[in-house]
Amino acid sequence: MSHPKLFIPGPTEIAPEVLQAQTRPMLGHRSKDFADLFYGILPRLKQVLLTGQHVYITASSGTGLQEAAVRNAVRPGRKVLNMVAGAFGDRWNKVSVSNGKEAVRVDIPWGQPIRPEDVHAALAAGGFDAVTIVHNETSTGVMSDVGAIARLVHKKHPDVLILVDAVSSASGVRIPFDEWGLDMLLTSSQKAFALPPGLAFAAVSDRMLARAQNVPNRGWYFDLLMLEKYLAAGKTTPATPAVSLLNALDVQLDRILAEGLEARWARHEASMKLAHAWARERGFELFPSSGYESRTVTCIANVRSVDVPAMIAFARQKGMIIGNGYGNLKNKTFRIAHMGELGPDDLRALFVVLDQFLA
Ligand SMILES: *Cc1c(COP(=O)(O)O)cnc(C)c1O
Repeated sequence: MSHPKLFIPGPTEIAPEVLQAQTRPMLGHRSKDFADLFYGILPRLKQVLLTGQHVYITASSGTGLQEAAVRNAVRPGRKVLNMVAGAFGDRWNKVSVSNGKEAVRVDIPWGQPIRPEDVHAALAAGGFDAVTIVHNETSTGVMSDVGAIARLVHKKHPDVLILVDAVSSASGVRIPFDEWGLDMLLTSSQKAFALPPGLAFAAVSDRMLARAQNVPNRGWYFDLLMLEKYLAAGKTTPATPAVSLLNALDVQLDRILAEGLEARWARHEASMKLAHAWARERGFELFPSSGYESRTVTCIANVRSVDVPAMIAFARQKGMIIGNGYGNLKNKTFRIAHMGELGPDDLRALFVVLDQFLA
């Protein structure tokens, strides 16, 4: 089926066999067939998220798990630190505040990464239960060094839980959850995982579950202890799971592991290099501060002042959809996603089209 190819940072392209898996007949979610599907998925999801601890799957988008993270990690009278370097860090701050958490927000200029010393400086005030960090700020194309942040936090603030939004990077970039000692990593199905929207995945540490025991009012739908209780009892999920999407996930996990995680990460990096070279050779600049460019989405500074909406419309006519800049960055930047199913060959085809426009 011919369709415009998505070079936007979500939803992303989906392999035909993954789409097809959603048409399988329905299963009762208390049936053995469903339990086999669900418990068969979890070990492979752990492999992809690089954890031997806990993984959870929710029928929600990734934002639901931003909510789960703060609701399960932050006790009354204690604070959460929200590092905000773009639109999704801003959202996590709003999610924290609207869930009644005492939130301290640190703003970082858009285009800059979240730096370990900034996290340390803010935590030094004391009284924090957790810090939220967006690994790959999709709005700016900046990828922060979560490993370095985690090292410093563990050293200086060992009781602070490290909550990471990896919505647009997980599976496309190596994020060793256990090795870095992260406490919760959340992601969505429709970005680098290359699935339809509607599922969210989390890796969760033992430490985070222990903390949740001491947090009242965790809510119901996103209570990690409830999810854990059902899983441990062999009862899958408390509420009705998104069966069709789980069928798609089942197929996609096999595809991801068949490609190999190392190969998948390398493919994303190769795409990034190609996008950088194209942008620079055409007289553009990269929006992110040097050394912190995302490996899944390239945010290009429109220093040539090209007519971005016209370029997007031109590409659309040729069957390719790229992204404008986010919010205030609209027309000042544009974004080319290279995550999930997309690779260097797709980008080469896109750049032929964009070159036609620029000529
Ligand atoms: C897309 C995105 C989100 C929002 O995810 P939803 O699945 O739409 O809720 C959050 N954080 C980042 C970094 C994103 O790219």
